Amino acid sequence: MPAPSFLLKMPAYLKDFRCLGAQCEDHCCYGWDVNVDQKSYERYRRLPSTGLGARIQKALERNRKDPCEARYAKFRRKTETCPFLSPKRLCRIHAELGEDFLPDTCALFPRHLRARESWVEVSASMACPEIARRVLASPQAVEMIDLCLDPADRMPRGVESALPSDAEATGFLLRGFAVELLKDRRHALWQRVLLLGFLLETVGSQPPSLTGAAMESLLDGFARRMASGELMGLMESAPVLTGLQLQLVERLYDELLPTVRVKAFKACVEACFGGLDPSGAGIFSQDIVRRYDAAYRERYFPFFENNGFMLENFLIHYLWHHDFCFHQGRRAYDDYVTMVLHFAMLKTCLIGLAARQHEEMNGEMVRRVMYALTKVVEPDARFRNYALGLLAGSGCTDLMHLAVLIKN
Ligand code: SF4
Repeated sequence: MPAPSFLLKMPAYLKDFRCLGAQCEDHCCYGWDVNVDQKSYERYRRLPSTGLGARIQKALERNRKDPCEARYAKFRRKTETCPFLSPKRLCRIHAELGEDFLPDTCALFPRHLRARESWVEVSASMACPEIARRVLASPQAVEMIDLCLDPADRMPRGVESALPSDAEATGFLLRGFAVELLKDRRHALWQRVLLLGFLLETVGSQPPSLTGAAMESLLDGFARRMASGELMGLMESAPVLTGLQLQLVERLYDELLPTVRVKAFKACVEACFGGLDPSGAGIFSQDIVRRYDAAYRERYFPFFENNGFMLENFLIHYLWHHDFCFHQGRRAYDDYVTMVLHFAMLKTCLIGLAARQHEEMNGEMVRRVMYALTKVVEPDARFRNYALGLLAGSGCTDLMHLAVLIKN
């Protein structure tokens, strides 16, 4: 009997993705620790203790703090880069031992694979500058495509296990609705983001074991609330508080900056602060608020009036990659809050860059900020905890306060 073929589902921009390798402008081996999964760790321990085998064994460091199969150990770094990146920016493990010897992190990045009922879903991280370029390339709405792998191909490694079928079914219903909501250009983007928050807040208040029928009826009810104008009225009543928005986002940047090693991120933040506070006084003032509002009105808003698809693609991509429509209860809402903070930091940084007089806003600037910020925020569990703690401490976790972060 022939071996069964298997199906991959992925956003269209991933179909022919190839790592740029040595040509990459910001190689993923820079600025990050390389996690080593348990299987790779054990394989490395069995290598001969000479040459590259000895170097790998010396660089391995067990994760004793919160070990799991995927983060069982890491490669100890002495510099900014992975110890196995050659001066020509090629991986020594790949070159000398072959692809099978890469740890899952490197074999998969920037992709993430999840088993679904009868296929594998693939998403990818915008921390990779090439993925960011692809996500932002299409003014048309991003679509999912199917790819049937040849039976002779091996099942990819590092696939996250499937959820129970009920949780998966409700997740698909919710994600389908959420994606259509984010694509609905009849509403301003900030309104779509807040509507998504209302939706996830409603879902989060339900018992976790929601059935497919209960999710369908919840989504119907939500669509009726949207059509009635009730939610629009609520959103319009949220105040625009640029000062508070800037102060909250500035505290997030302050928390991250001292320990971050991603150079592109530091460069973007410095340029942003330079745009908003050209005197370098470093003290929050009404002048900064005025400059921010003017940059929003005169540069950011006109640019995104024509290129709004970039922010839309970013958010839809985020929803797919972080998979939070498949998380249940409070966790889905907390994931949403983290997305709003990530988005608020992105927007603030772009407006700060727009405030500089010598460079017009352009797509390349947007791509660079998106990938650099994602490269810092995405792998850092501290960001999520600190961001949620900061909002809770400021009494800002409800949706009307979140509106302050994204409404201009
Ligand atoms: S960041 Fe992306 S393109 Fe660059 S080296 Fe890593 S996977 Fe390849």
